[in-house]
Amino acid sequence: MSFAIALAGNPNSGKTTLFNELTGARQHVGNYPGVTVEKKQGTCVSEVGQFNVVDLPGTYSLAAYSLEEVVARDFLVNETPSMIVNIVDASNLERNLYLSVQFMEMGIPVCLALNMMDVAKKRGILIDTEKLSRLLNVPVVPIVARSGEGKKTLLKTIAATVTDIGDKKVMPLKISYGADIDGALDEMEAIIISGNFLTQTYPPRWIALKYFENDKQIMAIGNSENSRVGSLLLSIVEKVTRHLDVTLDTHPEGMIADQRYGFINGVLKQNVVTYIHDRNRIQISDKIDKVVTNRFAGPVIMVAILMGLYHFTFAYGQIPAGWLETFFGWLGSVVNGALPDGLLKSLVISGIIDGVGGVFGFIPLIMFMFLGISFLEDSGYLARMAFMLDRVFRIFGLHGSSVMAFIVSGGIAGGCAVPGVMATRTLKSPKERLATLLTVPFMNCGAKLPVFILLVSAFFSENRALVMLVITLISWVGALLVARLLRSTIIRGAATPFVMELPPYRLPTFKGLFIHTGERTWQYVKKAGTVILGISILLWAMMTFPGLNKAEKQQFNLKRAEITRGMTVQNTGAGALKEAGTHDAVTISPYSLAVKQALVQIDLKEAQERLKNSVAGRMGVALEGITKFAGFDWRTNIALVGGFAAKEVVVSTLGTAHSLGKVSPDDTGFLSKRLRTEDGWGPLTAFSLIVFTIFYAPCFVTVVCIAKESGSWKWSAFSVIFNTSLAFGLSVAVYQIGSLIMY
Ligand code: GDP
Ligand code: MG
Repeated sequence: MSFAIALAGNPNSGKTTLFNELTGARQHVGNYPGVTVEKKQGTCVSEVGQFNVVDLPGTYSLAAYSLEEVVARDFLVNETPSMIVNIVDASNLERNLYLSVQFMEMGIPVCLALNMMDVAKKRGILIDTEKLSRLLNVPVVPIVARSGEGKKTLLKTIAATVTDIGDKKVMPLKISYGADIDGALDEMEAIIISGNFLTQTYPPRWIALKYFENDKQIMAIGNSENSRVGSLLLSIVEKVTRHLDVTLDTHPEGMIADQRYGFINGVLKQNVVTYIHDRNRIQISDKIDKVVTNRFAGPVIMVAILMGLYHFTFAYGQIPAGWLETFFGWLGSVVNGALPDGLLKSLVISGIIDGVGGVFGFIPLIMFMFLGISFLEDSGYLARMAFMLDRVFRIFGLHGSSVMAFIVSGGIAGGCAVPGVMATRTLKSPKERLATLLTVPFMNCGAKLPVFILLVSAFFSENRALVMLVITLISWVGALLVARLLRSTIIRGAATPFVMELPPYRLPTFKGLFIHTGERTWQYVKKAGTVILGISILLWAMMTFPGLNKAEKQQFNLKRAEITRGMTVQNTGAGALKEAGTHDAVTISPYSLAVKQALVQIDLKEAQERLKNSVAGRMGVALEGITKFAGFDWRTNIALVGGFAAKEVVVSTLGTAHSLGKVSPDDTGFLSKRLRTEDGWGPLTAFSLIVFTIFYAPCFVTVVCIAKESGSWKWSAFSVIFNTSLAFGLSVAVYQIGSLIMY
C-alpha cells in the first residue's frame, strides 16, 4: 500500500523542516503542473506502507487570492491525498488554526502536527493537546520538527488514521456563519446536490461557501459546468449580501472570517491553552486596548500622540540642531578664510557645506523623531494604529495590511517608501496590493522630512507641531483619496478580509530604543554622506557651468568701473577691480560706503545672472513659465528636479542655489533664515512647496522598486506622471486660492 500525504500549513510553520525529517534524502524537487512554484516530493516508510509526502506551499488561507493558495488548493482537490498533515505553530495557535479550519471544511482527513512545542514551552504556553483533538475531532500530535521529537508518534498516528478511514468519507466541519448565511448555505446545498453541481470534486456546502467568499476560480469552473445553477447560486449570494449590508453593515467575506475566528476562539477558550506566566500582562493589555482602540477615544488619542511626537521633536531637537548650525557656520567661515576665491571655494562652500550641511543639520531633529517612533513601535502602539486604521482603509479600497506599508513608508514621519513598497508583499489580493504600492509614496518619508522641517521652521515657527500634523493629515487624506479613485477606476476589485494580531503592550527598553534610533539615524547619515553628497556636487556643477561669457562679464566690469571712477582719488589703490566678493580693501569713508553698497549690488546681479545662465538655471527658468502658478521660482524648480533623485536634494539644492546667488559667504545664515528674507518667499509659497513635495513623483529608487514589485514599468511611469500632475494641480490650487485670500 502507498498513501499520498500532503504537508500543509502557514509559511514558516516548519513544513520543510518536518518534510526533511520525514523523508530524509529520499526527495525530489519539481514544479507543480503549469506553475513555477517548487514542488518537493519524497517518500517515507511506515508500518502500513509507503507514504508519498508532498510539501505544499505555505498559506494563511485557502481563498484563491494568491498563487500559493491556488496551488495548495488545486493539489488538495485534484490529487486527493489520503490525508493532510497540517503543521501548526503551537506558539501562534489562533492564527494557524484559521487554515486548519478550512482544511476541515473541505472534508479531507486532517492530522494536526503541533510544531514548535519548544518555543511554546519557552513562552509559557501550555496546550492541552488531547482536549484540542477532542474539540476539533482530529488527531493532534505535539512535535518539535527541528529536533525530530514526536516524529515517531506522528507517523504512527498518520498510519492509524489512513487505515482507519480507508475509503470512508470524513464529514466536513460545519461552522455556523450566522443565521443569514447559514440559511442560504442550506438552500444552496440543496440546489447543488440536486443539480449534481461539481459534486464529483468538491463537498456541496464548501462550493456554496466559496460562492459567498466570491471565489473567482470556483465560480468560473461552476459557470462552465452549468451556468444556470451557477447564476442561481449567485443570485442567492447577492440577496444575502445586500441584506447583510443593510442589517449588519458587513459583507459575507468579513462575516465568514469573523465566524471562523469565533469558532477557533470558542475552542481555545475552553482551557485548551494555559499561560504559565505573562497572562497578567495580556490582561492589562486588554484593558488598555479597551480605551486606546475605542471607536471614539481611539482616534483622539492617536492624534494627541502624534502631536506629542512632533512637539517633542521640535522642542528638544532644536537645541542640538542649533549647535550643528553654529558648527556649519563656523566651518563655512574657516573654509572661506582658508581657500582662495575660485571654483574650489565655491564647490566646498556652496556645493558641499551649504548643500549637504543643510541635510546634516537636520540630524538632531530626525533623531528625536526616530526616537519617538521607535518608542511607539516597541511599545506595541503602532500595531494598534494599524488596527484602528484598518476600518478606515476598507472604505478607501485598501486593506488592513496596507496600513503597515503606509507606516513603514513614513505614515507618521520618517520612513522610506522602498521598504514600504516591498512590505505590500504581505497583501494577497493583487489589486489591493497595487493600489497600496502606488499610494505609499505619498507618505512623509525620512527624505521629505528635512524639506518640511526647513519650511516649517522658516515660515511657521509659531505652531510647528500643528503644521507637521496638518502635513501628515494631508498626505494620508491624499493617499486614501487617490487609492479610492484608483480602486474605483483602473484597479477595480473586491476587498479581502484581514486579521490583525495585537501583541501585548510592553515598556520599551533603553537598549532597544537606542539601537532602533541609531540604525535609522545612521542610514540617514550614510545617505546624506554618499548619495546626497554626489548629487549635490553634480547639481552644484549644473548650477555653476557654463557661467557667463566674456562679453557678459565685461558688462558687469564696466558697470563696476563706472561706479568706482572718480573714487580712486580718495581710496588710493582700492579702486582696482577685484573678483566678486572681496571689497574689504575699500576703506570705510562716507563715499566709499555708498560705493561699496553699489558694488555689492552689481556683484549680486552678476552672481544671479551666472546662476540663471547655468545649465540647471536655464532649466529652472524654462520651467518657471508654468511653475509660477504654484509660486515656485526657477531656483525652487532646480531643487524639485534634483529631488527626483532623492528628496533630501530639495534642501541641499535650495541651499546651494541660494548660496551661489549670494555674493559673499559671510552671510552664511542657516537656509531657513535666508529663505525668510528672500523675495517671493512667504508662508504661502512654503505651503505650496510642501504640498508639492508630499505628492510629486516618488524618488528614483522607489520608481524602480514600483516597477519590480508591480511587474511593469507601466505603473512606474504612471506614478511619476500621475503624482507630479496631481502635485502640481494641488500646489497651484493652494497658491492661487491662498493669494486670493491673503491679498
Ligand atoms: P516552512 O516555511 O513551513 O517550510 O518552515 P521551515 O521548515 O522553513 O521552518 C521555518 C523556521 O522554523 C526554520 O528556521 C526552522 O529551523 C524553524 N523550526 C522548524 N521547526 C521548529 C521547531 O520545532 N522548533 C523551533 N524552535 N524551530 C523550528
Ligand atoms: Mg518551506
